[in-house]
Amino acid sequence: MRRPFVVQSRRPKQKKRLPPRPRFAFRGPQEHLGHGCCLSGSHMVRRLSVRSPRLQRARRPPQARPPPSPPRPAAAMDYPSQPPPPPPPPAAAEGGPAADSQAAELPRLTVTQVEQMKVEAKVADIYRVFFGNAPNANSLMLELWREQHVEYLTRGLKHLGPSFHVLDANRPWLCYWMIHALALLDETPDEDVEDDIVNFLSRCQDKDGGYGGGPGQLPHLATTYAAVNTLVTIGSERALSSINRDNLYKFMLRMKDTSGAFRMHDGGEIDVRASYTAISVASLVNILDGELAKGVGNYITRCQTYEGGIAGEPYAEAHGGCFGLTRYTFCGLAAMILLNEVDKLDLASLIGWVAFRQGVECGFQGRTNKLVDGCYSFWQGAALALTQKLMTVVDEQLKSSYSSKRPPGDDACATSSSTEAAYYAKFGLDFIEKSNQIGPLFHNIALQQYILLCAQVLDGGLRDKPGKNRDHYHSCYCLSGLSVSQYSAMVDSDACPLPQHVLGPYSNLLEPIHPLYNVVLDKYHTAYEFFSS
Ligand SMILES: [Zn+2]
Repeated sequence: MRRPFVVQSRRPKQKKRLPPRPRFAFRGPQEHLGHGCCLSGSHMVRRLSVRSPRLQRARRPPQARPPPSPPRPAAAMDYPSQPPPPPPPPAAAEGGPAADSQAAELPRLTVTQVEQMKVEAKVADIYRVFFGNAPNANSLMLELWREQHVEYLTRGLKHLGPSFHVLDANRPWLCYWMIHALALLDETPDEDVEDDIVNFLSRCQDKDGGYGGGPGQLPHLATTYAAVNTLVTIGSERALSSINRDNLYKFMLRMKDTSGAFRMHDGGEIDVRASYTAISVASLVNILDGELAKGVGNYITRCQTYEGGIAGEPYAEAHGGCFGLTRYTFCGLAAMILLNEVDKLDLASLIGWVAFRQGVECGFQGRTNKLVDGCYSFWQGAALALTQKLMTVVDEQLKSSYSSKRPPGDDACATSSSTEAAYYAKFGLDFIEKSNQIGPLFHNIALQQYILLCAQVLDGGLRDKPGKNRDHYHSCYCLSGLSVSQYSAMVDSDACPLPQHVLGPYSNLLEPIHPLYNVVLDKYHTAYEFFSS
């Protein structure tokens, strides 16, 4: 079990519980390990090279081996308890039988384990400094560096360097990440800049509906989501009326598969991400109806795994992906709420899976055995924030010994039978007006600590984790996660968080968001009024 850690007590505990066997010093040069983060390999086991000087030193003679340790419960802070490595195949052995027996003594660590240790060490260094500081220095460290973030984001709206050419098919995303992050900081760009963005996104809008990654590019549901959220965040009449809803509806019908799910673009992949972006956009601009909604809930239900999280498609692993909007558990859960079919999910196991993704670093990981990452502050934090309003459903499910999902095709959820768009439009509004039925289901202060101490970059912008560079994507989702964690302790939906719920000075408080769409709440209300009239 991974829990947010207390820095001072971590190391000694770890040493005490370790069996006296060779340890890999993870802070040294990594010449034998490659780049574990690229391999993302919970399944990749890499034997350390038998020629490594480090390992030569680490070997011990057979008589020095400790007696086998008794089995103990798995804990993330423990060094992994590995089974003895199998003997290498004869062809791979070097140096004859002696080398074989020595190789059999070597510890094995997965690439992910080594990367995990490195991240924990970096985070621990930061927390050690923090806890060793005088209180007044601590309050400085916990400050949200608003001015620097605003400067970084505003500059990005006007100019991006040549390296950004790789994001040419993601330009609406860049608009959304920057505009939304600014809105969270209660900042509005100049009117000229907003007009430029509206004009640019209008040129990304396909004549047959939907938005491409740039002018003339193939319309795609992910960039459509980014474009619509940007326009909603700008919130002017010109911005909102630039969305051609009739064509957008036709585009979405075209993206709909016979299974009920959506595909990302013409001929593209079908997954939960596509379903969420379609449902979120349709709900936000009030075009969601029974035709679009039909079958989506059953598809998403089939994507919930035995772990409780939601996979990208049926029979895949519950997780988040590499880049962009591939955070399936959040996407699946939010879509199910907007469809009013959330009772089809096994919510108790979903909550358990997400809650256990918050780790010793205080931030969230995207899936089992992945590293902490600032962007999951939103994807996982918001998923748990959504469930705070679903406790009645959870209780009902637990009371009736809910253990398996409803079979696909079971339309017992009578609420999905309406075909009226207005009927569906209400779910987003009704949901946000509901009070939280329980306190935060994650450590909301610990998450703020991770974001403020480990994700902020002094020159402005936020990042994935210490050692990584800042970027607009992480700036957007770290701030979104910070907002979610600040407001998650409130019961009433329209109350202001108390000072004890905001880590650092109260001026750190961000604007609240509507977590189903990830747009600032005020902007959502404006759009709701506009598209309802
Ligand atoms: Zn990330």
